[in-house]
Amino acid sequence: MNVVPHVLIIGAGFAGLETARSLAKVPVRVTLIDRRNHHLFQPLLYQVAIAGLLPSQIAQPVRTIFRHQKNFTFQMGEVTEINFDQRFVKLDGSIIAYDYLVLAVGGRTNFFGHDALEERGFQLKDIPSARRTRNHLLSLFERASHEGDAEKRAAMLTFVIVGGGPTGVETAGALAELIEHVMVKDFPRLNLNEARVVLLEAGPALLGAYPDELRRAAHRLLQKKHVEILLNTRMDDYDGQRVTLGDGTQIESQTLIWTAGVKAAELADRLGVEQASAGRIRVEPTLQLARHPEAFVVGDAAFLADADGSPLPMLSTVAIQQGKAAADSIRRLAAGGEARPFRYKDPGMLATVGRNAAVARIYGLSFSGFLAWLIWVVLHIYRIIGFRNRLAVMFNWAWDYFFYENQTRLIIEE
Ligand SMILES: Cc1cc2nc3c(=O)[nH]c(=O)nc-3n(C[C@H](O)[C@H](O)[C@H](O)COP(=O)(O)OP(=O)(O)OC[C@H]3O[C@@H](n4cnc5c(N)ncnc54)[C@H](O)[C@@H]3O)c2cc1C
Repeated sequence: MNVVPHVLIIGAGFAGLETARSLAKVPVRVTLIDRRNHHLFQPLLYQVAIAGLLPSQIAQPVRTIFRHQKNFTFQMGEVTEINFDQRFVKLDGSIIAYDYLVLAVGGRTNFFGHDALEERGFQLKDIPSARRTRNHLLSLFERASHEGDAEKRAAMLTFVIVGGGPTGVETAGALAELIEHVMVKDFPRLNLNEARVVLLEAGPALLGAYPDELRRAAHRLLQKKHVEILLNTRMDDYDGQRVTLGDGTQIESQTLIWTAGVKAAELADRLGVEQASAGRIRVEPTLQLARHPEAFVVGDAAFLADADGSPLPMLSTVAIQQGKAAADSIRRLAAGGEARPFRYKDPGMLATVGRNAAVARIYGLSFSGFLAWLIWVVLHIYRIIGFRNRLAVMFNWAWDYFFYENQTRLIIEE
């Protein structure tokens, strides 16, 4: 009797989801595990934080996504241990055996040793952290509206974002627009000319990984939205009230949003496998573990260098392509063949700076402004999972665009 191989996937992010989908017609049993019951579209988390979208519009239950896939099972829970020699994982105390393993556990925020920031600052990593940020931002406007002390009010209305990568740039632009177009209407007696959005970047330019012309375009577009950009500026400390910069300057602020780094998920540190920078797990060109060819690592958790030796970036496009590649190699292995090396096909770069403003590099062409923004909007609506979510996001964005509103300005304490 032929036993159907069991493929165990840990993580229902971009990489895990793509692996499971690509195995739909392969004669294997697929089990997908995640500690959350949903897939989250992380690139739009900042929109939850600035009250643009509801959490439910950028997330979808895993069971709903795979309702029609016959060889698929989902288990919600936290994987705490993997025994590579005996091929099983521990899930909340129980044991699940596998024939092939796909580790797609993603990443978490890297505070680079500034551990106090986890409590005092804000991050955008999951729905609770984005909602916490939204509650905090909206509460500050309420508190500032009845604060008589000008200095205290200024600190409440000074928002510092650390990290000039795509997430920092997108958050800074969106927050500046929230203040300029929406909060001015809600708080007519509050002088919002006092409000500041400050973006700190340790390097010499915003969007360091982008071509030079796009870096400059993003800089210009953000400045137009009155974002204060401080380049070559390191954050040294934040005590919840003031940010101390590398040169000793202090900025009084009750908000610091940290977007400056990502490292591999906790599980990667507990496996006894070889790790590279940011704790990512070093894999073979085929995405397999060197000593365990039945185990694959994909997405943010995997460390693989491209042809010119630089590590593949922690991006959804890399995660999706790797998920597909791992599924293809598992299909080959199960049929007695060999795994294939992974090659990343770079689809280009996109980042939005706000209304009518984005930067893009597609098929080698760089451009910025309205056309880049339109492509960003269409692509993000297309990539969100679930037809209902797509409609909801499209409707929200259209409404906000024409009426200068942000839909979800509710402070709902946890
Ligand atoms: C705010 C933000 C904005 C971003 N913007 C962009 C963008 O514009 N473009 C872009 O391409 N990329 C963007 N990214 C990066 C992109 O989201 C990641 O590269 C992508 O999510 C990686 O996919 P993944 O499948 O490896 O991991 P993830 O999507 O992080 O999924 C990992 C999954 O594993 C689960 N998990 C982890 N550990 C365990 C465990 N022990 N047990 C069970 N489950 C576990 C988690 O719950 C999670 O669901 C952004 C990321 C963030 C945070």
